[in-house]
Amino acid sequence: MKIPFVNAYAQLPDACFAKLPPTPVRAPRLIRFNYPLAQELGIDSSAASDQDIADIFAGNRVPDGADPLAMAYCGHQFGQLNPQLGDGRALLLGDVIDQQGRQRDIQLKGSGRTPFSRGGDGRSPLGPALREYILCEAMYALGVPTTRALAVVSSGEQVVREQPEPGAVFTRVAASHIRVGTLQLFALRQDEQALRALADHVLERHYPHLDRTADDRYVQLFAAICRRQAELIAQWLLLGFIHGVMNTDNMTLSGETIDYGPCAFMDAFKAGQVFSSIDQRGRYAYQNQPAIGQWNLARLAEAMLSLFPGDEDAAIQQATTILKDYNNIHSQAWEQGMVRKLGFSSVVAGDVQRIAGLLELLEQGALDYTLFFRRLGQVTQPNADRSPVLSLLNLPDCRNNAALERALHEWLDEWQQQLAQRETESAEVIARMQSVNPAIIPRNHRVAEAIEAAENDDFSVFETLLSALEQPYAEQAAFEHYQLPPEPEQKVLRTFCGT
Ligand code: AMP
Ligand code: MG
Repeated sequence: MKIPFVNAYAQLPDACFAKLPPTPVRAPRLIRFNYPLAQELGIDSSAASDQDIADIFAGNRVPDGADPLAMAYCGHQFGQLNPQLGDGRALLLGDVIDQQGRQRDIQLKGSGRTPFSRGGDGRSPLGPALREYILCEAMYALGVPTTRALAVVSSGEQVVREQPEPGAVFTRVAASHIRVGTLQLFALRQDEQALRALADHVLERHYPHLDRTADDRYVQLFAAICRRQAELIAQWLLLGFIHGVMNTDNMTLSGETIDYGPCAFMDAFKAGQVFSSIDQRGRYAYQNQPAIGQWNLARLAEAMLSLFPGDEDAAIQQATTILKDYNNIHSQAWEQGMVRKLGFSSVVAGDVQRIAGLLELLEQGALDYTLFFRRLGQVTQPNADRSPVLSLLNLPDCRNNAALERALHEWLDEWQQQLAQRETESAEVIARMQSVNPAIIPRNHRVAEAIEAAENDDFSVFETLLSALEQPYAEQAAFEHYQLPPEPEQKVLRTFCGT
């Protein structure tokens, strides 16, 4: 197998990483290789057998040109600074320039201990590896910036968590793995040289449109990073996604979603929804995500202040303005996204109230967020039979009552009137709605079902789920049952970090 490594990250100052090879596993077996992604990366796998692929992406054979390293970073975890994190069980094999000229990282996760492992074993169980595979590929298909899944290999070893579990190595691809916590580390150490080298690297790699000779280039860089995060988190909210561990070491500077641990899409709408068993106080609850994003970016601002022109007061002033803008950018992106979900082509006065009123009804009735918007596309006309939407009230767990049903009818009346006034082409309205309101999301109970079967050596459920998630906005008769929320006994209440 030929992988066209260029290894730009390895050229950064030595303090940015520790170089070491992966630790081989006992019996690598290929579970899945993402051939289309491999092709996109310029990887030639034509002569590679499944065993060759398994050996490489288990870390048992280091491919030619790779320069494996564990990245150094720190971060705020649940609000507390942890000064020493780093890749404790991951290794960057190297970075490549893909077919479209973009630099991409290829990283093994679960590839053994590193100098950053602290007490950990450097390994990953199969369950979380499959979970990350499913979730990131689903996010990609949904149109959300995200790291990607290139491979998953079972290791033939057990890893001990709450109990012994089968082990795996997951390979992910990212625009880069540079995090808020990466810059934080070098600011904390007052290592100006590494901080500046990294900031320059990020600017050239992820924000090449910025003028790298401008005096205020790092201010512009900070603003650009904030914009991407504001838009990214808006996309999460629009799709009902909850990241679950938005620590500063789990937030990229590229604007891609990273580190799918205890994340989940919600079924019934609940603004305060939390899935992660380790997030007991709801810090990373659904509706807190925009504010937490801003909190993380404030930590990034602190790390970058010394790079801003002018004295400290001036630097703080600039950072503060940008952090305020973050709120506006986020709200605008979210409002625009929401009105599209409702079929409108643009935002007008009253829309924010209209949306808030709807979300209140969804929460009151514990209505399924994804299905509600999807079905709304079937009832755009005043004379439409409303049962596709109203029948959602009969799903298990919905809090159905006459007042709620009446309020829902009133909301639908008003919305249909608005549509009739504001939009002339009803086919366009429906097409617009269906292009942003997915039919299929990786529902938690489906993910759990796929993992459970895989742990019993049946990977067909995982494969079928991945197929269903490839075209989330299409009506696919074969996968209709994947649209449905869980039956009470299928419900997954908590997703454990368990990584
Ligand atoms: P995460 O919760 O996956 O974002 O990881 C937080 C930190 O813990 C990172 O520095 C990881 O590299 C490290 N870590 C997580 N699991 C392990 C493990 N099994 N062995 C060593 N380090 C780990
Ligand atoms: Mg992490």
